[in-house]
Amino acid sequence: MGRKVIVAGNWKMNKTASEGVALVEALKPLVADVTDADVVVCPPFTTIGAVVEAARNSNIKVGAQNIHWAESGAFTGEISAAMLKEAGVEYVIIGHSERRQYFGETDATVNSRLQAALKAGLKPIVCIGETLAEREANRTESVLGTQLRDGLKGIDAATAATLVLAYEPVWAIGTGKTATPEMAQETHAFIRATLQAMFGTDAAAKVRIQYGGSMKPENAEALVGQQDIDGGLIGGAALKADSFANLVHNAVKGAAAK
Ligand code: PEP
Repeated sequence: MGRKVIVAGNWKMNKTASEGVALVEALKPLVADVTDADVVVCPPFTTIGAVVEAARNSNIKVGAQNIHWAESGAFTGEISAAMLKEAGVEYVIIGHSERRQYFGETDATVNSRLQAALKAGLKPIVCIGETLAEREANRTESVLGTQLRDGLKGIDAATAATLVLAYEPVWAIGTGKTATPEMAQETHAFIRATLQAMFGTDAAAKVRIQYGGSMKPENAEALVGQQDIDGGLIGGAALKADSFANLVHNAVKGAAAK
């Protein structure tokens, strides 16, 4: 199968530059021996520069939490792909459910951001996921199908194969409620089948699909041990070096046992 595990910490609106550097300095030795996973931290914009410096010559990669679709211009408060590239960013989270919920993100804006990220050579982590109401109304598959078809519109199969997706059931984010490994696997398998219909078998088999939603060191092994779960997008457990490092190690263990 050959999909490399990817674990990304989404720091959200946490950590000043000095706090971010302290976290990365503490994390570096704890993940220095990790070769079987991509380890990514996604600090707030103002913390990125300092974290890129701190992470230099380590195996920690840096991502941003959002990107604007325009190259430049009158978009107060926004950050462009070129700004992220020059800051040393490699990955970018797009369409996180908090952006969908609080900041008017839609599948169309996700698609615009995705195109801008790809054009600049940034590696997108595209987030999808259903709300509790949608799951309870048996709408999970139709919601995810729409998010995939509209969010990834215009992407060719070769490019799709390089993407990272994060499946994050909204009801599991920051709530302590995790999808069971079996429940998460069932949804990941649906996502991969949808990708297969959109981009073909080869491309779909290469897409890395992270699970997100209260992933912790304690449940990472079982979750990433599932066939179609290739890592995690982590909120709360990414804010402390030891918990994030333990989670990464357990995810690698889970993947090795597949
Ligand atoms: C997230 O914000 O992407 C997330 C999964 O958060 P948490 O791990 O805190 O549920």
